[in-house]
Amino acid sequence: CKDGHTPLDLDQVEMRFGGLVAVNKLSLKVLPGTIHGLMGPNGSGKSTTVNVITGLYNQTTGVVNAFGKSIGKLKPHERAQMGIARTFQNLQLFGDLTVLENVQVGLHKHYKSSFFAVLLGLPSVGREEKEKQIEAYRLLEFVGLETLANEQAKNLAYGQSRRLEIARAMALKPKLILLDEPAAGLTTLEINEFNQIILKIKSAGIAVLLIEHHMDMMMKISDEITVLDFGKKIAEGKPRDVQANPEVVKAYLGA
Ligand code: ADP
Ligand code: MG
Repeated sequence: CKDGHTPLDLDQVEMRFGGLVAVNKLSLKVLPGTIHGLMGPNGSGKSTTVNVITGLYNQTTGVVNAFGKSIGKLKPHERAQMGIARTFQNLQLFGDLTVLENVQVGLHKHYKSSFFAVLLGLPSVGREEKEKQIEAYRLLEFVGLETLANEQAKNLAYGQSRRLEIARAMALKPKLILLDEPAAGLTTLEINEFNQIILKIKSAGIAVLLIEHHMDMMMKISDEITVLDFGKKIAEGKPRDVQANPEVVKAYLGA
């Protein structure tokens, strides 16, 4: 199916590492304007799926469609330019740059002058630089970090770093965002704040593929859920149905 409105459509995608089948004939659709949860125990193939979608890995077989295009052979930056953004399971921020600069790194693709010219304070960048700063501040407000704009990223608390990652991914002006365990290691209170941010992303019309290990968070905010176990889809559907699925309970409790 080549529906240009479907942000993501995986068809029988398989990813092997030597003899290991990390993703096993996975089919999955993320529909416009929805949060699609991708759940599963550790090692079930969630991050590998994200890496296949973003082009870090090329799938062994199967088709990766995004917005009606087969993207499985495109380079990672080409997929990013199509509006597919991601965050990483392990934080990948620039610790010595400020919070604002970390967002501007993501923004620079949309502007002509280079990020480094900006850092060096070259005069040519005047107005464009102003616009970029305003945009970066706007994104910091979006995730509630605007008061920390001039702080070095390495001084942020863990939960704040997680939110900065989201702001940076949003700087790409994505149409589809892949969040790989964005709430890992957060407190319950922080997770609730995070849910609000993810719901705001959805309200902005961006489709979300949300990878999470935590059942509760998934159940609260996902529109649809796919569950993996050993690389294979074992359940999909509405949160309530998935939660009650015996296969899912078994995979999670190891019973
Ligand atoms: P999850 O994100 O669900 O915890 P992963 O996608 O990271 O799981 O891993 C799925 C399986 O693939 C694991 O067995 C993991 O060890 C393996 N794997 C992931 N990446 C690689 C790689 N680059 N090379 C070899 N094996 C890998
Ligand atoms: Mg993972």
